[in-house]
Amino acid sequence: MVTGTGSEASAANDPAVGMSGLDPLDWDRLRRLGHRMVNDVFAHLESVRSHRVWTPVPDSVRERLLTPLLENGIGEEAAYSEFLRDVMPYGIGNVHPRFWGWVIGSGNPLGALGDLLAAGMNATASGLAGSPPLVEAQVLDWLRELLGYPVGTSGILLSGGSMANIVGLAVGLNERAGFDVAQEGLARAPRAPVLYASSQTHCSVERGVRLLGLGSRGLRKIPVDADFRIDLEALETAIARDRVAGRQPWAIVGNAGTTNTGAFDDLTALADLAARERLWLHVDGAFGAFAALVPELSPLVRGIERADSLAFDVHKWMVAPIEAGGVFVRDADAHRRAFAVAADYLSPMPGGLGQPDIPFSALGPQLTRGFKALKVWLALKAHGVRPYAELVRRNVQQARLLARLIDDTPQLELMAPVPLNVVCFRFHLPGAGDRALDVLNRSLVVRPQEGGVAAPSHTTLHGCFVIRACITNHRTRDEDLELFVREVVRIGTELGGD
Ligand SMILES: *Cc1c(COP(=O)(O)O)cnc(C)c1O
Repeated sequence: MVTGTGSEASAANDPAVGMSGLDPLDWDRLRRLGHRMVNDVFAHLESVRSHRVWTPVPDSVRERLLTPLLENGIGEEAAYSEFLRDVMPYGIGNVHPRFWGWVIGSGNPLGALGDLLAAGMNATASGLAGSPPLVEAQVLDWLRELLGYPVGTSGILLSGGSMANIVGLAVGLNERAGFDVAQEGLARAPRAPVLYASSQTHCSVERGVRLLGLGSRGLRKIPVDADFRIDLEALETAIARDRVAGRQPWAIVGNAGTTNTGAFDDLTALADLAARERLWLHVDGAFGAFAALVPELSPLVRGIERADSLAFDVHKWMVAPIEAGGVFVRDADAHRRAFAVAADYLSPMPGGLGQPDIPFSALGPQLTRGFKALKVWLALKAHGVRPYAELVRRNVQQARLLARLIDDTPQLELMAPVPLNVVCFRFHLPGAGDRALDVLNRSLVVRPQEGGVAAPSHTTLHGCFVIRACITNHRTRDEDLELFVREVVRIGTELGGD
């Protein structure tokens, strides 16, 4: 039984705690295990350059990961040993200096400790009073300033860019569908709502329109120019045609850094068009928005401050431990309108826990929310802005270096412009057709991954399979890219090169 402040109710004399075993009987033992965990994780990160980038999960491990849950546990130390044996060695490799697949950040050790602290507090940044919403608000203020988004706008941290796109579009739909979507629902839509985005837009936007009940057909994919930027004329034509056909254009998605090639749509032109047509402008800046940190790159993001909503990721180029992303919304009332619902058990109180500074749970789909802000807050406070700006600048220089190495290698062919940190290329054989090259280049993605040497990913551009490297990695050195090019040429030559 707990009496007084609780300090005298130690685990040892509290039978309930002792029986559950969820708090340790011996805190010192768990503390020692915790120290071992920190040592092991940091040792792994410290020596990561000497490891393979990626190792396939062996069958023996797969089998052990299929065993059923036990009635009686094996204990903390034994469970941790299984983690060391079966889990830790088989991550996806994105902490390694030669991981450049998809768009995945390299994480940071201090941020990892931030997640430990957040979990230790077991904090939720929901609708309750306490430090978590204040820390989140401060992180949002810092990010707003870094990205050049207007002061006094609304925002929320989310799991990542996908949720950020969905939340931004949910607010936009509510504001611009031409009727009260929040109350009436799409079943009452007088005209079919249509959203516009370039063919290079991230798939989470399409998933978003599905979740919003608009279906994939509610998204009009607009062609791009030779630089993979949205074709503004085609966009205007599509909007005009839909209006004539009695549909309801409601939003444009602009890209600040496409996943395929890092292309930037002309955001100023999109903002002008959206204003003329009274459409919502949502900008997907998942990683590209952070070009704003580097003065030489900032022309790319010109106009981003005019977005009605702006999606960004913190776990990509800002290398926060996964998950962390967010969205800014220019009109704070619109943001609230989209998500506010009444519940007796959440009604505001004159004080106490029920009087939060910022009720973040009313600005997104989640009620109980992890304290993601803490790992970001801790890292930004400890490191300051400078290392992040340098990271963006260096990764962009490294992408240019990789493009030069490709240009200088007769067997390799650059397949897209490199406006930012994404490089798409392929191995070329004189006289070979595109389909034969597709087969060869598939192997040139898989072989370096399976060899543990490097982890590029892949995509398709103009119908051709290409090798793709997206550098959002603070551990990459120039020599890693040189090694990668040598490896691709070596394997390509072995598989059928001249
Ligand atoms: C990664 C990415 C997303 C999705 O973000 P997640 O954090 O993976 O959910 C959206 N848009 C772009 C441009 C991206 O690169």
